[in-house]
Amino acid sequence: MNILVINCGSSSIKYQLVNSERETILAQDAIELTTDVGPALALAQLIDDTQNETIDVVGHRVVHGGDAFRDAVLINAEVVAQIEEWAPLAPLHNPCALTGIEAAQTALPKIPHIAVFDTAFHATLPRRASHYAIDTKLAEKHRIRRYGFHGTSHQFVALEAARYLGRPINELRLITLHLGNGASACAVEMGSSTETSMGMTPLEGLVMGSRSGDIDAGIIFKLLRDEVNDVDALDDLLNLRSGLKGLSGLSNDVREIEAAAASGHDEARLSIAVFAHRIKKYIGAYAATMGGVDAVILTGGIGENSANLRQRILQRLEFLGIQVDEDNNQHAEVDHQNKVACITTENSRVPALVVKTNEELMIARQTIGLIRQQARLKTDLSIPIAVSARHLHLDKHTFALLFGDDAEPTHHADLSQPGQFACKEKVTLIGPRDSIEGVRLLGPLRSKNQIEVSRSDEYLLGVDAPVRDSGRVKGSAPITLKGPKGSVRLNEGLICARRHIHMHPDDAERFGVQNKDEVEVAITGGPRDLIFCDVLVRVSHGYQLEMHIDTDEANAAELDKSSNAELVYVGIQGRTALLKNLKTLPSGD
Ligand code: AMP
Repeated sequence: MNILVINCGSSSIKYQLVNSERETILAQDAIELTTDVGPALALAQLIDDTQNETIDVVGHRVVHGGDAFRDAVLINAEVVAQIEEWAPLAPLHNPCALTGIEAAQTALPKIPHIAVFDTAFHATLPRRASHYAIDTKLAEKHRIRRYGFHGTSHQFVALEAARYLGRPINELRLITLHLGNGASACAVEMGSSTETSMGMTPLEGLVMGSRSGDIDAGIIFKLLRDEVNDVDALDDLLNLRSGLKGLSGLSNDVREIEAAAASGHDEARLSIAVFAHRIKKYIGAYAATMGGVDAVILTGGIGENSANLRQRILQRLEFLGIQVDEDNNQHAEVDHQNKVACITTENSRVPALVVKTNEELMIARQTIGLIRQQARLKTDLSIPIAVSARHLHLDKHTFALLFGDDAEPTHHADLSQPGQFACKEKVTLIGPRDSIEGVRLLGPLRSKNQIEVSRSDEYLLGVDAPVRDSGRVKGSAPITLKGPKGSVRLNEGLICARRHIHMHPDDAERFGVQNKDEVEVAITGGPRDLIFCDVLVRVSHGYQLEMHIDTDEANAAELDKSSNAELVYVGIQGRTALLKNLKTLPSGD
């Protein structure tokens, strides 16, 4: 599958076309958005650029999913409304993502579009880490809590680190540091985020290119009273004119700041010191909250490229078991092929790793993961079909009359239900109108005789047998049986078996049904799409999932061995169909 990953920002649309098989990047670029080139035109150009490749699904990066989304989600009107709802907390990001989604859906209307949220990875934050110590009711009313961001990057580098270390992620306590223009730290415990430095918005936490990160909230009151005129101006100050830019008075780019610091620029040196100190503080804090740390991971433009900052961040952390190898640190180089470089000594108890992040690839993985999950869901609701030809079950006494006192049922072939088998023995059914020869006995012998025929058999025999659940033969139709050793006239036992599904209790739980429920089952993918109603559910530990229909029903549905038709569970009779996601369901007949 080819997944188009779109990251729509205010000034550009970044995209990557990823083939899922070997995670190869087929195309990637960033298209600048201008007053002349809006997302619709950019999307058209993007599709034009990738015209030699098919696009099977689109994964959209969305920054803020609040607490509404723990995972990637198929975009529909409800999802769009939710993304809009969270836009006030990510005003620079969510509206752009929505514009990108709309343009992409218009350009590629026939394929699924999936949203992947920066916040989703942090949905596992425990309450103690997600709550601010303010009035609980007020916090609830305004949805003030810590959501965390950069989730796809933290998750990606944590997984890469685990792979590099050759250890399962669910055994590891990792500290991941995403240090780019935006910066955040994350405590990844057993594969889940348990602490992260960004909060309700991306403003909290580490010092960033132009964001302040943590400040005393009292500063806000002071600035509002004595410096700025309104909240928007303060928002601007803390988001766009603080951090490295504000401290250095030069730039938000570490390359420029490092060059200035090297030539003695004091504010540049100060900004580097504050930046590194804040990160070191978080490393100590997260080692404490996790009760230890197994590896520290640095990523993002700064983490991947600035040996100087890496050294400053990690120096004097020997007490935690981190011993930097300065030579390795200076020469560490990572790219999409060589994703990981270790910058600690061989004896360092806790390795520090530089990992090349790839948020687009992580988005592609989550997108394909959702598509596969939906396909599994569909398969999981399918039910194997068994077409029952006419057959009979006999009690010991009747068997002896037909086949002789010393005879035993002889095994011919196992049936799909455990313990059931077809026998070599066959009998003739003799009705008032005609006879049917060669009707097979099924074993083992039972306590009651039961002969199961189809409606057209009844017509041939000249009898009117009731449609019955298996086992309910009282008052059913009479029939004469003829075997090699004699004939027996039965006063009852002939039924037209009601269609039913054998289910193990695990299947029943999965489908949400109980023994004796009546359900509806759709046949899809064959020459005739139709829905069987009145299907009886039979649940037992001895059963294996299978729907039994008779030959008449199979003929009506045009089911034969070569057909690709499958049965798909629809829902309990009379209730609304359960499956919102199952697009292939027929409309019914
Ligand atoms: P990102 O947001 O992850 O793309 O990171 C962008 C930031 O990484 C830039 O603003 C720089 O501060 C930093 N950066 C990129 N390349 C280097 C480099 N070679 N040395 C130091 N910092 C770098």
